[in-house]
Amino acid sequence: MEGERTYLSTPLLRPRVAFLDFTSCEGCQLQVLNNESSLLNFLSLVEIADFREAVTERSEDYDIAFIEGSITREDEVERVKKARQRAGTLVAFGSCACFGGVNQLKNRFRDQGEVIRYVYGDHPIESMEAMPVEAVVPVDLKIYGCPVSKDELERIVLSLALGLKPSVHLSPVCMECKAHGNICLYELGEPCLGPVTRAGCGAWCPGSRSRCWGCRGPVDEPNMALMREVMERHGFGQSTLDEMLSSFGGFSQGEKAGYKESRA
Ligand code: SF4
Ligand code: SF4
Ligand code: SF4
Repeated sequence: MEGERTYLSTPLLRPRVAFLDFTSCEGCQLQVLNNESSLLNFLSLVEIADFREAVTERSEDYDIAFIEGSITREDEVERVKKARQRAGTLVAFGSCACFGGVNQLKNRFRDQGEVIRYVYGDHPIESMEAMPVEAVVPVDLKIYGCPVSKDELERIVLSLALGLKPSVHLSPVCMECKAHGNICLYELGEPCLGPVTRAGCGAWCPGSRSRCWGCRGPVDEPNMALMREVMERHGFGQSTLDEMLSSFGGFSQGEKAGYKESRA
C-alpha cells in the first residue's frame, strides 16, 4: 500500500482491491460503475487489482476482496477460500454474499436435483444449495443491499482507505423513509418491512411507492412481534409476512441467530 496521498490531511492507504463475482446477477458490481460523477474520485481511493466488469488486467495481489454473489458450486468454494487467503480484508458485497440473497429461495426445495431438472432440463449444471460467503470463510465486513448502495460503498471504502473502522447503519428503513417525508405505504394499503430492515439504502423502495422487501436484512434487534402486529392490523396475514421475510435470506439468517419471534 502507498502512504503518499491524503484526504483532509490524513494519509490514504490506497488499498489494492478485487471485485470477485460468484453466483450473482452482477448488479452490485455494476453499482460501483454507476454514478459516473463520483467514479473517478472512488477510483482515486483504491488500486484495482481485479474487476472483470471494468478492467482487462487481472492480478491476484490484493488487500481487499469484495465478494459478490452466493456460493453454489464446489469450484466457488475453492475460489472463495483462495480469495480469503490472499485478502487481508474480505467483504461480503451485497445481499447474495451476505445472506444467500434471491438465490437462496431455491433452498426451500428439499430435492435440489429436482430443482436442477426443472430449471435446466436436458442441460443440467452443478448447483448446490445457495450459501452466504460466511458459511465457507470468515467475513470481515458486510455491505448489504440488492443491489448495494453506491453512496454507502464509497463511504465504507473511504473508511478502509483511511484505516478506520467503517460505521454501520443501526436504524431501520422507516427512519430514512420518514426523513424523506414519504407517506407510509401502510396508509396506502401496502405491506412493508421498513420497521425491521436495516437502513442505508435511503428508503429506495418506499420512496418509489414500492414496499420494502427487506433486502438489507434485519436491524440488530428487530421487533418481529410488533412487525407481525402491524401487518395484521392492516389486514396482512402470516403468509404475506413469511413470503416477504424469506425473499433475500437476511431474516432466515436472523432466525438461526435467535432474532425471530416465537410463533407459539
Ligand atoms: S445482491 Fe442483488 S444486485 Fe447484488 S448480485 Fe445479488 S441479486 Fe444482483
Ligand atoms: S412506508 Fe415502509 S419504510 Fe416507510 S414508514 Fe411506512 S413502513 Fe416504514
Ligand atoms: S427499501 Fe428495503 S427492499 Fe428496498 S432497497 Fe431498501 S432495504 Fe432493500
